[in-house]
Amino acid sequence: MYNGQWVVDGHADILYRMEGEGLGFYDPDSKLQQSFSHMAASGIDVQVFVTFVEPRLTPSEQLYKVLASLDRFYREVAKPGIIAPVFSAHDLQAVLQSGQRAALLSLEGADALNGQIGVLHALFRLGVRLIGLTWNGANSVADGVGEARGAGLSQFGRDVVRTMRSLGMVVDVSHLAERGVWDVLDIYGGPVVASHSNAAAIHAHRRNLSDDQVRGIAATGGIVGATFVPGFIGDKNVLASEDLLRHIDHLLTVAGPDGVALGSDFDGIDTTLADLRNGSDYPLLLEKLERRYGSEVLTKVAGGNWLRVFSQILPAK
Ligand SMILES: [Zn+2]
Repeated sequence: MYNGQWVVDGHADILYRMEGEGLGFYDPDSKLQQSFSHMAASGIDVQVFVTFVEPRLTPSEQLYKVLASLDRFYREVAKPGIIAPVFSAHDLQAVLQSGQRAALLSLEGADALNGQIGVLHALFRLGVRLIGLTWNGANSVADGVGEARGAGLSQFGRDVVRTMRSLGMVVDVSHLAERGVWDVLDIYGGPVVASHSNAAAIHAHRRNLSDDQVRGIAATGGIVGATFVPGFIGDKNVLASEDLLRHIDHLLTVAGPDGVALGSDFDGIDTTLADLRNGSDYPLLLEKLERRYGSEVLTKVAGGNWLRVFSQILPAK
């Protein structure tokens, strides 16, 4: 917690670096940008653990990697009394009340589904509760922002989004091409999130969201997770939290205080903001948010909005 507020980080690629570089989550000297020491130092209560895999792999190779990452999470991250995986709205409340930290599992890029809805059901049973439908390229669900065709959801993609809603999974539209975002907003029927994206009005980057998209997401009761990726924040050589705050100012104006949250993208980035280098620096941002917007807005942006969305979407029990 930070000053009595729940703190949630909606996107970090910790598992990707654990898998690829053999880094230890509990190693006190871990090179991870978001290790357990950083989480503990900064009072992060809920962390979304993403299973990003190399997009150049075939869908079935990606599925093997995803399974390996999920297994690594259960063996090396989840720890009774310390970090508990969350599968339902009930779990989330129970874990937070017990003083443990909560972890949710997310898939970044639905390539591993390989066009099969059965794989989606299986990943749900293995604990996955969020899916970013694409990375930058195209897959069987939709096109990402890097695919020039810019198509929306495929027929399979529509099945995936509807099935996710009925199972109780969060649809993440970060990385998705614009048409796909509108398709999701049309058919999901619940709060839609962009876990790690900033405002295109402040910095025109393909990974950032237009004001219309931000409004569309907020209208579902969803959230945009402002992200610490320097390339999405601005063009200067050295960027800092003050530059990120310009995006948060704008997102708050367009989406309102219920529509903005945080998604660091730690361990998915090679360079960082000068003063947000790892999870331990999180409180510096929270302090600035509190000073700038007051404690009511801080409560929502720091974690309250993520918690609201999770409790609305996840299975009740
Ligand atoms: Zn990403």
